[in-house]
Amino acid sequence: MYDFSMLMKDVDELRSHSIVRVHEIGQSVLNKPIVELQIGEGETYVHMNASFHANEWITSAVVMAFVRDYVQALKNKNHLVEYDVQQLYKKTTLSVVPMVNPDGVDLVLHGKKAAQHYEDEVLHINEGNDDFSQWKANIRGVDLNNQFPAKWEVEKERKIPKAPAPRDFPGFLPLTEPEAQAMAELTTKRDFFKVLAFHTQGKEIYWGYEQCEPLEAEEEVNEFARWSGYKPVRYIDSHAGYRDWFIFNWKRRGYTIELGEGVNPLPFSQFQSIYNDSIGIFLTALART
Ligand SMILES: [Zn+2]
Repeated sequence: MYDFSMLMKDVDELRSHSIVRVHEIGQSVLNKPIVELQIGEGETYVHMNASFHANEWITSAVVMAFVRDYVQALKNKNHLVEYDVQQLYKKTTLSVVPMVNPDGVDLVLHGKKAAQHYEDEVLHINEGNDDFSQWKANIRGVDLNNQFPAKWEVEKERKIPKAPAPRDFPGFLPLTEPEAQAMAELTTKRDFFKVLAFHTQGKEIYWGYEQCEPLEAEEEVNEFARWSGYKPVRYIDSHAGYRDWFIFNWKRRGYTIELGEGVNPLPFSQFQSIYNDSIGIFLTALART
């Protein structure tokens, strides 16, 4: 498992390297810091995030492994796969928010006790069930990846949950949740060049939204596919996601990468194969500016 405390241990370790900058970009409902890591000297900000969805916590472990190996290669002046990381470091700034939904991740991994003063509420939302393995939302039962103002009203109308739920409830209004607000503020402030949102599962990469995606997205997603064997999918019937909102507003490249295959939460035994499949996506995203 990879919970919030393991993430923070890894963040503290990375913080000891002078090339890694750590920012707290906000706090979760339960006041856990939402952390952004920055590495690089370039003006081009390439953003990646993971664990928007609670039971997709393996994405945090994978993204942190990319970051660790990138830092290690930079320190040792090695290549990573076949990329010259010094060049990537000079050209770009990597921005990573490795765990957007720390409260949800800890609920999935540790159960109701992790909900603290929301314990009664999460049990009610989960219909009395102690098993939170299917929980995707934040601790208040809002799906953070349905909170963004890109045709949010469409999702609001058609989504089945009309109240807090383990998944899919878009909130009573857009951007009501502190985790979604932190991501929206960060994205606006940093003016990201492109974004990659890591989810599970399906071995697919979504790359279009409402014909707002730029031309170069297709070429890049095909390169992602060559590295990973994952299938590019241009449009899916979905709105109000973080990536949807990014493409819609900035008309820049935004990808959702559905790591691995199986039933969420994916078992940690998939970690190595997911890493091997997707390290090429990570490096290609930094290299293609
Ligand atoms: Zn997801």
